[in-house]
Amino acid sequence: MKLHRKLLVYLVSLVLSVLLVFGFINYQISNTANLDNDKHILQVSLQYHADILANLYRDKPELNTLLEHLQNKSRSPFFISILDQNSAYILKQTPPAQQYMPPPSQLIQARSGQANVAGQLYLWERVPIPGSPYQLLQIYQSRYADSLLNNLTMRMLITGLIIFWLAGWLGIVLSTTISRKMQAQTNAIQYQSTHDNLTGLPNRLLLYEKLERAILLAKDKSTQVALIVMDLNRFKEVNDTLGHDIGDQLLCQISERLQKLLSVSDTVARMGGDEFAILVTHSNETHIRDTIDNITDALRKPFSIKELLLEAETSLGIACYPQHGEDARTLIRHADTAMYLAKHHDELFAFYDRNKDPYSLKRLTLMGDLRRAIENEELELNYQPKAHILQRQINSVEALLRWPHPIYGYIQPDVFVGLAEQTGIIKPLTRWTLKTGIAQCAQWRKKGLQLSVAVNLSPRMLHNLELPTEIQTLLDQFALAPECLELEITETAIMQEPERALEILGQLHAMGVRLSIDDFGTGYTSLAYLKNLPVDEIKIDMSFIQSMLNDKADAMIVRSIIELAHNMNFEVVAEGVSSEALFQHLAAEGCDIAQGAYISYAMSAADFDSWRNDSNWMIPACPSTNPAEAIVLNLERGQPRDNSV
Ligand code: C2E
Ligand code: CA
Ligand code: CA
Repeated sequence: MKLHRKLLVYLVSLVLSVLLVFGFINYQISNTANLDNDKHILQVSLQYHADILANLYRDKPELNTLLEHLQNKSRSPFFISILDQNSAYILKQTPPAQQYMPPPSQLIQARSGQANVAGQLYLWERVPIPGSPYQLLQIYQSRYADSLLNNLTMRMLITGLIIFWLAGWLGIVLSTTISRKMQAQTNAIQYQSTHDNLTGLPNRLLLYEKLERAILLAKDKSTQVALIVMDLNRFKEVNDTLGHDIGDQLLCQISERLQKLLSVSDTVARMGGDEFAILVTHSNETHIRDTIDNITDALRKPFSIKELLLEAETSLGIACYPQHGEDARTLIRHADTAMYLAKHHDELFAFYDRNKDPYSLKRLTLMGDLRRAIENEELELNYQPKAHILQRQINSVEALLRWPHPIYGYIQPDVFVGLAEQTGIIKPLTRWTLKTGIAQCAQWRKKGLQLSVAVNLSPRMLHNLELPTEIQTLLDQFALAPECLELEITETAIMQEPERALEILGQLHAMGVRLSIDDFGTGYTSLAYLKNLPVDEIKIDMSFIQSMLNDKADAMIVRSIIELAHNMNFEVVAEGVSSEALFQHLAAEGCDIAQGAYISYAMSAADFDSWRNDSNWMIPACPSTNPAEAIVLNLERGQPRDNSV
């Protein structure tokens, strides 16, 4: 991990620099201390011998007295000689060949001195022998080089051990603190991604997981599982007439009542909006009917909110394992269908009935319509600007699909992209989106706008090994540089088949295409896993962004994601930035890019061209070979203008 590697490098360089400084100081101290010590030894010994010789000479003042006394007195590391008044040698204690005798010229000039001979240090000093015309010369073969080395090694060893010990502790303390902080942030993100912000109930994702587990268990024990989906009738009216605050409180009170009813093994979840789900495990027919009665009874009593008494009307749809479906996805869909049927027929609840499922029929029709719409080029691609917060300019746009259906009107992309994913239609659909987006981007570039286009990639496409080649062919066809294309992929898409996804993403990244993780925070991917992916950017899901001003937990999540993402060198995009306040807040948090209604909703290419002419957002001009063209593009409020539009 980058942070840990950095920490290690810091600690090792810290230890080495401290060792270096300590080593130098130690060397200086030992050097001076040892030399002073040797000089002192030499002086003491010299004075001692001079005093003895002076006494002997006083009793018997002859040169022989001195010479006799000094016979064989030279012993390593001390060597003694007698000099006359002119500092000429009288007695040379015959030293072995490698030993040193100061030359007479030096003896005349100085009282003491030192010399380095063959890597060995010799100190010498001469003093007059009191009461005689002679001088005593003593040479000392210093051992300070050895002791300096020993001393230094010892000190360095001790210092090194202490520093390594300290650095070790520091490393442990720092890495524990950082790991704890990261773990807490990851836990918070994980909790947030599996729970509903308002009620604290498990969300759709966690319910799905629990349902899958309950089905496995039921399979083993041959029991039943019931999924009850509950929707409030006319909840929109509560929101519109009494305000969202009252609406929120109503949802919270409903969630509390539901939780009180259920046993520990059952789960209440909020599926989104005014839709709840209750998962009943180990159930049988009577138990399910009792639970339904309990729910309807509990919700029949009015809710008291700010001196208002509100009644909540609900519709319940029930699908059971194994009768109505054998996997979580089917059970949820069938419970939903049953709920819509109950609502439609003004009933309190309905069990799923295959014969009354209109959805499957509508689905089939829609599939055929979608196939035709792609062939007849009836789909539309809209573009939503992504604004660089610091530079206050638009560097790229996200391409978003629109399907104007001749009977149902505009169908939401989440609906038909989901349908297309379940069949082979997703391939031609993605091909069309990529081709249209790339062609549009190439056209903008030709007009001199330095824009990139971001295309959403469905999870299914990450299984297609031909995708990189197909994209390269399209880029070549429209002569667009790969850097101008961004691909947005959700975390869950990567997690479905990580190995193959990694291979395809690696190839795309090597081509130069930018990769972005969409809806970040809603899946299970940790940032730690993302660091292995060749990703350039992450997009924080709008559910966190839109509530961050009112919800401290969400604000904390956003801050943590920004901080961690920056640590991993990812750019951070905030989605659903719908107000100036949000924009400013994100700017203060260091977020790089903002996308949302505050800048603009998605619009057709033609509308985008008019929008950019009127908006305050700058679009940088392509570096042009023709300077006059570049100047024209930057006219008026620093905003690009294209005369050909
Ligand atoms: P997404 O990729 O997360 O796209 C962002 C969605 O948020 C878009 O909805 C956009 O219009 C909407 N949005 C942006 N700013 C705001 C805002 O400030 N407030 C609100 N309330 N909404 C905002 P849209 O266009 O309905 O797309 C929904 C989803 O459909 C997309 O989510 C994406 O998952 C999918 N989709 C759209 N186009 C394509 C496509 O070409 N291919 C694939 N595979 N999926 C697509
Ligand atoms: Ca997207
Ligand atoms: Ca998104």
